[in-house]
Amino acid sequence: MKLPSKLLAALLLVVNAATAQGQQKPVDWDALSKEGQTILGDYLRINTTNPPGNEMVAAKFLKAILDKEGIESQILDSADLGGNHANLYARVKGNGSKKAIALLHHMDVVPATASQWSVDPFSGVVKDGYIWGRGAIDMKGEAVAHLMAMIALKRSGAPLNRDIVFIANADEEFTSTGGLVFVKNHADLLKDVEYLITEATENSVVDGKVKYFAVGVAEKRTFWQKLTVKGIPSHGSRPTKNNPVPKLVAALDKIAKYETPLHVTPGVQKYFRDIARLYPEPRRTWLSDVTKALNDPAARSWILDDVYWNAYLRNTISLTGITGSNKTNVIPPEATAEIDIRLLPDADPNEVLATLQRIVGDTAVHWSTILPPKTPLESPIDTDLFRAIERAAKERAPDAFVTTPMQTGATDRPTYRKLGIITYAIDPFLTEQAERQKGVHGNNERLSIANVGFGIKYVYDILRYVQ
Ligand SMILES: [Zn+2]
Repeated sequence: MKLPSKLLAALLLVVNAATAQGQQKPVDWDALSKEGQTILGDYLRINTTNPPGNEMVAAKFLKAILDKEGIESQILDSADLGGNHANLYARVKGNGSKKAIALLHHMDVVPATASQWSVDPFSGVVKDGYIWGRGAIDMKGEAVAHLMAMIALKRSGAPLNRDIVFIANADEEFTSTGGLVFVKNHADLLKDVEYLITEATENSVVDGKVKYFAVGVAEKRTFWQKLTVKGIPSHGSRPTKNNPVPKLVAALDKIAKYETPLHVTPGVQKYFRDIARLYPEPRRTWLSDVTKALNDPAARSWILDDVYWNAYLRNTISLTGITGSNKTNVIPPEATAEIDIRLLPDADPNEVLATLQRIVGDTAVHWSTILPPKTPLESPIDTDLFRAIERAAKERAPDAFVTTPMQTGATDRPTYRKLGIITYAIDPFLTEQAERQKGVHGNNERLSIANVGFGIKYVYDILRYVQ
């Protein structure tokens, strides 16, 4: 009997899948967690303080691990990035029936002042149940969760519908060129990537209890401005109308007094509705419909008192740098100010700028954009990946929920979002809020040993459930 080739191919697929399932090896989670701890310690001992970064050393370290596992990887972009920077890319192949999912981290870390730490920040030392070092949370710890989850899937022989892509970028903390160069040079490597997971959100853990798991779907956009007023320099003893300083001060005063309009984006509405259950009345009712609550003066003032919530609900403006004369008796030729403007994902930068210029209402004030806004980032929530995260989260803490806090700072995600990739921020760990705030970019950054195992399995399950 001659079978049609299509049917034959289909049968073969079934047989292959069955074999793959049959061969699937169980994961020894304890052993994997120990391996992850060792790798994290080694990774923390590679000093990737940026500047200068030196991520080439980290990329080679990761490549050696991937090589040992038989996972194809490439060190890329060292010529374009220069200065011992490099990106790393790896991929575990699935059967290709669905699009790929990427795990992204940055290899560089912010500087650490050793004298303010209780351990050497590049020791990777294990002490009091923690692995200590600059980058333990931001974000070498996450990198190890990504890496070991991918390795575990590869070793187990679990059937994969989606390829798993592993990306380690240089230079996120300083000038963000690692991600930019990678996306510019290697759009081809990313063309089949549907989802991307990276940093920049925090699960809420209070007194050892998980309140919620966070998925960052949106972030604010920086839209920094510089204001310049020109004048005529002269002696401070003879005041003139050509002093640029009072004009600048008047402009800044108007900006400082201006209240940007409140605006609720869909992800933020959902976030408040989700967390409402954590509050007593009447706050619960307020948060369950934040758009409505903002019309109630009591609710509005309570909500906006929280600096994070305030930033979720409007474009924000912080007056930061000012320069005038550096001598008390000299009227300077020029006065300048820098303003940190952060836009909601759906804000129109040109409109915001036009509004501010109208409010200042002085043509002597010249505006220039220091940092143009990146691609707006608000990823959809109705996705297989979001459901996979919800499933993995529920299994770990049935009383907790999954929600979508906005990121007020800027990350590399818009760089990838620009290619149409759905990017989520996921925190693979359960870290008490106080601990996290102390360590990230601060002193004594550390990750608990329990979290290493937790993070690997959490990412592993998400990757499995999204197949
Ligand atoms: Zn980071």
